[in-house]
Amino acid sequence: MTGEGIAAPPFRDAAPRGLCTDCGVSRLQDPKLCGAACQFIKPDYPRLEAAVHGRARDAKRPDELHFGPFRQMLRASLKAPRPGAQWTGITTRLAEKLLEAGAVTAVLTMAPDPDDKWKPVPVLVTKPEAMAACRGMRMGYAPLLALLEPAAAAGHKRIAVIGIPCQVYALRALEARLGLEALYVIGTPCSDNTTTEKFHHFLTLLSDAPETITYLEFRADYHVELRFADGSTREIPFLQLPISQLPSDFFPLTCRSCVDYTNVLADITVGYMGGQGEQWLLVRNERGEELLRLLGDEITTSAPGTAGKRAGAVKGFLENTRRAAGGLPLRRMPDWLRPIIGWLMPRIGPRGLEFARARVEMKAVESVLHLERAEPAKMRNMIPDHVWALVAPYGLGAFSSQVESLGGSENATKKIPDQPSTR
Ligand SMILES: Cc1cc2nc3c(=O)[nH]c(=O)nc-3n(C[C@H](O)[C@H](O)[C@H](O)COP(=O)(O)OP(=O)(O)OC[C@H]3O[C@@H](n4cnc5c(N)ncnc54)[C@H](O)[C@@H]3O)c2cc1C
Ligand code: SF4
Ligand code: SF4
Repeated sequence: MTGEGIAAPPFRDAAPRGLCTDCGVSRLQDPKLCGAACQFIKPDYPRLEAAVHGRARDAKRPDELHFGPFRQMLRASLKAPRPGAQWTGITTRLAEKLLEAGAVTAVLTMAPDPDDKWKPVPVLVTKPEAMAACRGMRMGYAPLLALLEPAAAAGHKRIAVIGIPCQVYALRALEARLGLEALYVIGTPCSDNTTTEKFHHFLTLLSDAPETITYLEFRADYHVELRFADGSTREIPFLQLPISQLPSDFFPLTCRSCVDYTNVLADITVGYMGGQGEQWLLVRNERGEELLRLLGDEITTSAPGTAGKRAGAVKGFLENTRRAAGGLPLRRMPDWLRPIIGWLMPRIGPRGLEFARARVEMKAVESVLHLERAEPAKMRNMIPDHVWALVAPYGLGAFSSQVESLGGSENATKKIPDQPSTR
């Protein structure tokens, strides 16, 4: 994946690590930086939120407990959706605009591997027209931050990074040491990631010709959308996905226990969860507002909507996750009922912002339960207070007195660290 304005430099090998999504830090000249950078060791979200946004999340402001600090939250679409984009292409268009305006000289992001379109390859993009090759979602992770050294060696002092939350956490933790003149961080939410190899197995369960699948998305209307090379499409209700045929370790422990779904340390988060069929923007700080302004009238925006109630769905998820005992949370229901519930969910289930809140709470529940089962000794350091506050209403134990100030203490059972949550 090297061409005019796009380069995929070689990296050192990754250093051996425990919980790790190979964000690239262990491949830097000083791999020990992982100790300061890794969200799987002892993340400090309040400190980094304050450093990046000027303040930590404020649970008294609507939705900040769930989505992190933000100034504006919007539904949005590019008026001219870009071909090959995952949604309408806001993410890559922002980076194009930064390069066009000369605000940055390089963008660090992922392109598809030329031999496997689902495999992410870290690339340095220096020309706006080369951003088109990066559109779309790949499943898996690759060492994005290993690009920091080749970027610095090439003299890039004003850069943009497009990253998923575990990459952005490490980037922010190291930002002060990078000596950059400007850093723009465009984040996407991320959940339920897995290795590209395992994802290929999932594709074989969805189609007899998995190599013809060109697009996959878990939409907010409880359907997975598939697109095929011949232009056809298919929508599968979540309840009818072949989850029971996946191995129980399909999702690695990293992705079952990471604690930042919405990329709270990005300047702007570009997702879809709260967008009700459109994209969903969280503009988090001044730099995020500058990014949004770059799009000018290329974009339409509106206020996000919300409908339904999430509590029942989150409780059901918690029970299924417990019953799965470390495996995949399967819903117990007869096959004949699945299409009916699948039809009902987009109509009566949580929608819009309530869907996004439900997903964030489910992810928090999942992180607590999976760590408790697999790595209980890591719970004290790895689970931040805001996650305890999110799970408290569902009866999961909280560790810290600060949870009260985050607004989630009503049902929290105060427990000593490194002990299992309530059962
Ligand atoms: C594994 C994964 C899970 C996601 N889960 C959710 C979710 O649950 N809820 C939600 O709202 N959004 C999620 N997203 C984000 C969502 O899929 C869209 O990417 C996002 O909404 C941007 O759409 P777009 O049209 O603006 O992106 P585009 O303009 O098409 O650009 C996509 C950008 O994402 C980068 N990218 C693609 N794959 C990867 C990867 N594997 N690792 C790092 N960067 C990558 C590309 O390089 C490109 O820069 C997820 C993304 C990934 C990669
Ligand atoms: S995820 Fe990144 S920071 Fe954490 S151990 Fe792996 S390479 Fe190091
Ligand atoms: S699910 Fe979490 S740990 Fe896994 S790739 Fe996404 S942000 Fe990283």
